[in-house]
Amino acid sequence: ATYQFAGKTILITGGAGEIGKATARRFAADGAGIFLLDLNEAKMAEAVRELEKYNVPIGIFRCDVTDADNVAKAFAAGVEQFDRIDYVFNNAGYQGVFAKTDEYPEDDFEKVIDINVIGVFHILKAAAQHLRDAGGGAIVNMASHAGVDGPPNMIAYAASKFAVIGITQTAAKDLAPHNIRVNALSPSLIGPGYMWTRQTELQAAVGSQYFDRNPKVVEQQMIDSVPMRRLGSLEEVANGVAFLMSDEASYITGFNLDITGG
Ligand code: NAD
Repeated sequence: ATYQFAGKTILITGGAGEIGKATARRFAADGAGIFLLDLNEAKMAEAVRELEKYNVPIGIFRCDVTDADNVAKAFAAGVEQFDRIDYVFNNAGYQGVFAKTDEYPEDDFEKVIDINVIGVFHILKAAAQHLRDAGGGAIVNMASHAGVDGPPNMIAYAASKFAVIGITQTAAKDLAPHNIRVNALSPSLIGPGYMWTRQTELQAAVGSQYFDRNPKVVEQQMIDSVPMRRLGSLEEVANGVAFLMSDEASYITGFNLDITGG
């Protein structure tokens, strides 16, 4: 499906990452202006080059979502460049290390929560203020199927993504009076991309009863656990974002959309 995004603007955090870029391509193809936020400036510059062919307004801002002041500056820069932001894809995230619960490092647990929960809150709050004052809009928070069913060796990530789904339910209630819809997206095995490769390698390295020691075998084990027997594509994730942002989802809020192949 294509949606009426011409003249609209989407702000995407983690906009230099695999899913961020795929979503930017999807919205640019439907005519939206694209405002990317990420820590990684070089990768954002590369993303801009990939998006130029769509002939839509594009902006970037180096932003650390864990820093509330930095997030406020990013929104101000977005308003400066685009006048208004209509859609916010709260997508920046970090998988954490892979370790059993009895061995999981404290500092990494804190880092995961800092980016995936506190960072998501900072963006959500700034988005809520902007969209409230602009008369409405839509927000999609990136959760994960790890926030529905906690996977082994990912205790911090599971905690953070369960939190994102809870945050989404509360924010949807709080922001409904302001004509702002808030939904979550929960993909499971998505590829190709950095997170997919990293999780097969690191799950193999943990040496738990759940996965083989060989990452290639782990890939197959993971795929065999999916009823549709394949990875989801980056485009299939972007399609979910587009639907939830679109007017076709106008009566959907506080919902978590699983994108898992069954
Ligand atoms: P990715 O690593 O390609 O992209 C993540 C991006 O977030 C990177 O560009 C990184 O620089 C950015 N980022 C990290 N910390 C940041 C911070 N503090 N401030 C600003 N930007 C920061 O990974 P991806 O697969 O595109 O993942 C995007 C989102 O999707 C994440 O929230 C992830 O948890 C979620 N997710 C991914 C999968 C998957 O299999 N790929 C599955 C479910 C959920």
